[in-house]
Amino acid sequence: MQKIIERAKELLSKGEVARVLGWKKGDLAYNPEPAFFNCTDELTSFTYNGFCGANLSKYMIEASKLDGKTLVFLKPCDTYSFNQLIKEHRVDREKAYIIGVSCSGNYSVEKINKAGIKGIESIEIDGENLKVQTIYGQKTMAAKDALMERCTVCKGKEHKIFDELIEINTAYQNEDVTSRFDMVEKLEAMTSEERFIFWQNELSKCIRCNACRNACPACSCRKCVFDSNNFDSAQKANVDSFEEKMFHIIRAFHVAGRCTDCGECSRVCPQGIPLHLLNRKFIKDINEFYGEFQAGEDAQSKGPLTSFTLEDVEPSIVGERK
Ligand code: SF4
Ligand code: SF4
Ligand code: SF4
Repeated sequence: MQKIIERAKELLSKGEVARVLGWKKGDLAYNPEPAFFNCTDELTSFTYNGFCGANLSKYMIEASKLDGKTLVFLKPCDTYSFNQLIKEHRVDREKAYIIGVSCSGNYSVEKINKAGIKGIESIEIDGENLKVQTIYGQKTMAAKDALMERCTVCKGKEHKIFDELIEINTAYQNEDVTSRFDMVEKLEAMTSEERFIFWQNELSKCIRCNACRNACPACSCRKCVFDSNNFDSAQKANVDSFEEKMFHIIRAFHVAGRCTDCGECSRVCPQGIPLHLLNRKFIKDINEFYGEFQAGEDAQSKGPLTSFTLEDVEPSIVGERK
């Protein structure tokens, strides 16, 4: 991590960047927060470890409006979001100096808690294990069992856009990447009634905190339709099962073809709702209807839902499928 801090200090002191966007230590060992650092002294609280899950691409929307360049640290999956935001004219490439930081996975504190480890004071990576100091004494668990879902199906460790790269080991290196569509296929195999019950159960937990929307790089509208006072929908808790589903279905359609599957929506949901499954179903369908497509793979190509070819499927495909 020292390598990252030294490089950030160098770029700041030379005036090549006006500020640094990275992660700072949180109040707990497992919750570093996204942060802007405006001078070299502030970088003492900079951190980078297996709990730096936040995708900083979204913060570059606001940083692009500031004077001067912002040095931003991006993990491989974050760079897909940055490319997508360039494509949608939401960030200014010229205002960013991107350092791609290598990543071997992010950990989920929920998974650590589910393994019976509570009262966490500090966490250390020790080979293939996590050594966790708790108020009840030291515990260990296999690092692979603590990986966030998105890291078990990682799209790859290659940065899709960067100005320079810094190699750093943050976590246990997971080699056992499974298919990201496995769970979507299980949902597809259910009857429509079973599927409805699955989503009803999940979405009924939603407290409409808007964290999924606020963290999502694809949710980049200046004014969200759900913040409208005219529709009485601003900052509103769901009152019935229709409203529980409405927010998520509308959001899933708004990000269709633009969602990079970064997993931020599920990561930040305080209710543990697997929102990524909804978006992955859209991704899988788009792949099947229009050919393999990965949003954010580059910053130029047109997405299948914003371009037309004579080979495109007819909309009737939806009714024709079983
Ligand atoms: S999905 Fe891949 S690149 Fe992204 S945090 Fe997980 S391991 Fe790192
Ligand atoms: S983050 Fe979770 S609880 Fe909050 S609005 Fe999104 S789905 Fe609902
Ligand atoms: S919908 Fe979720 S997975 Fe897709 S871009 Fe937004 S935060 Fe990332």
